[in-house]
Amino acid sequence: MSKTLPVRNPRTGKYDFNLELTDPADLSAIAERLRKNQERWEQLGLEGRLDVLNAWRQEVAKNHDAILAALIEDTGRVVESEKEMLRLPSSIDKLTVMAREVFAGRSATLRSMKNVEVQGGLSAFPLVGVISPWNFPLSSSLLDTIPALVAGCTAIVKPSEVTPRFVQPLVDTIRKIPEIEAVLHYVSGGREVGEALINTVDAVCFTGSAATGQKVAEAAGKAFIPAFLELGGKDPAIVTASADLDKAAASLLAGSVANAGQVCVSIERIYVAQDVADAFVDRLVDKARQVKIAYPTVKDGTLGPIITESQAHIINRHLRDAVQKGAAIRCGGEVTERAGGWWAEPTVITGVDHSMELMTDETFGPIMPIMTFTHVDDAIKLANDSSYGLSAAVFAGSTDEALAIAKRVQVGAVSINSTGLGTAAIGEGDFHEKNAFKRSGLSGSRLGYDSITRFTRKKAYLIAHA
Ligand code: NAD
Repeated sequence: MSKTLPVRNPRTGKYDFNLELTDPADLSAIAERLRKNQERWEQLGLEGRLDVLNAWRQEVAKNHDAILAALIEDTGRVVESEKEMLRLPSSIDKLTVMAREVFAGRSATLRSMKNVEVQGGLSAFPLVGVISPWNFPLSSSLLDTIPALVAGCTAIVKPSEVTPRFVQPLVDTIRKIPEIEAVLHYVSGGREVGEALINTVDAVCFTGSAATGQKVAEAAGKAFIPAFLELGGKDPAIVTASADLDKAAASLLAGSVANAGQVCVSIERIYVAQDVADAFVDRLVDKARQVKIAYPTVKDGTLGPIITESQAHIINRHLRDAVQKGAAIRCGGEVTERAGGWWAEPTVITGVDHSMELMTDETFGPIMPIMTFTHVDDAIKLANDSSYGLSAAVFAGSTDEALAIAKRVQVGAVSINSTGLGTAAIGEGDFHEKNAFKRSGLSGSRLGYDSITRFTRKKAYLIAHA
């Protein structure tokens, strides 16, 4: 009999779901089946693969309500769950445009040997492993999987064991399309299955915490496979004296409280020019007070629960540490248990500095700590004083002023006069590629052409013509 894991409901705290765990020993048989099917999948060609993916998309659309309902149970929130449901169709559409260019084929004549033609080819990694986190359970399990399938790989996906309810209704749709079932397999489990997966595949995509990412990198190194790591963040925002304060406050609030702050690119630190700090804080507090938590029912407000209990304790610890060291809560400040779920109020907090965990470690809650600066060089220094380098935001009166700052911030994507645009553009990456800096990740861009090509090895065919 297979082992099961009781799963906690984030709204009630009750363990009301039993996850059947994949036996790590079964992975090699699953891998063997997929590997056998990979050559046919790759030889189907791009248009053939896109046809199959579009057929799957229709099955997912037919099962929309069941997947969505499970996702809402997994996460306790509605709006973000509805957005997650858009991931599959939107990424197929966006990748289609890019993939046609990527697979168009290139050839050239060597400059030094005019009779030698070089043709470029792409050879997919046969089997990719995808390990994903709990904060966006469905979309983060698909984010790397779809480009890998488009590229011609097969994939084994291990979503987080914390939020697994959505998997069965999704797998039901995979079973309806034999060509997809032949190349895509979801497994379930936690660390053990993740570790075994790394030893089974030809490349691994990992989205999760920096601490686990380090372990994944080491294991992938031992297995001699590439690891694409998308890890945590501590995104800073800089607001200069010339910025539109009302717009900045509205956008920073949205960038901090979306998904109750449980977003890798959540705004976690705000540096505002001293001259406008009071006016900015007043606006932010005013707006933050209007955001309601979705309690007692899922439809009562916009802010869902903190999905894991341990994360709620981290948020509480960061707030307590900051207050103990002299910070002042300007609104919110409570992370409380109600009827078994954990809820964090949108919180504006001033008087913070980098001696506090709240300014250095990932908080993953709807918390907006604000520090002031007198010279923009100091703001940039503070923004860069972090082990993370995922993304950032800059608000200034002119694009030139904002860009001059953005160029000096050590992160992979900077939203100018907005927040989270890097995420909004996911899949639309023919416009941009980006890397995670520092401890926020390693290797390849998840956006842009590279989101497809990183799942392939580049090949050269060198033809000597007579
Ligand atoms: P986590 O690191 O605890 O777990 C992530 C996944 O790794 C889970 O599926 C887990 O079962 C698996 N895992 C655990 N130990 C493993 C091991 N030794 N080997 C292989 N797999 C293992 O992360 P989490 O708490 O689920 O997710 C939250 C984190 O994810 C946050 O830090 C957040 O910033 C980050 N995140 C990053 C991005 C991004 O794109 N950069 C996106 C979403 C979330």
